[in-house]
Amino acid sequence: MKIDLGGGVRIELRRVDGELHGVVYWHECFGKTRANWIAIHPWSHTGWDLLCEDPLTLHPSIRCRLCGHEGEIRDGRWIPALK
Ligand SMILES: [Zn+2]
Repeated sequence: MKIDLGGGVRIELRRVDGELHGVVYWHECFGKTRANWIAIHPWSHTGWDLLCEDPLTLHPSIRCRLCGHEGEIRDGRWIPALK
């Protein structure tokens, strides 16, 4: 189930045995909808820290390497980075 976080970002939670292992996030990237994978620590050694699962809060911020789209997921919402 996709969740709309606002700011043009949608996510889907991926669980394994009930544990949140990662988040797929979609954003508009050069006119196309692009999916990126956010791995959650400690399931991935280089993953994001899950500060809170509900409302979802991840650390650190998220940045698309292609288009520079940047922000963070905090309190279940997409907070765009200040430029
Ligand atoms: Zn992008």
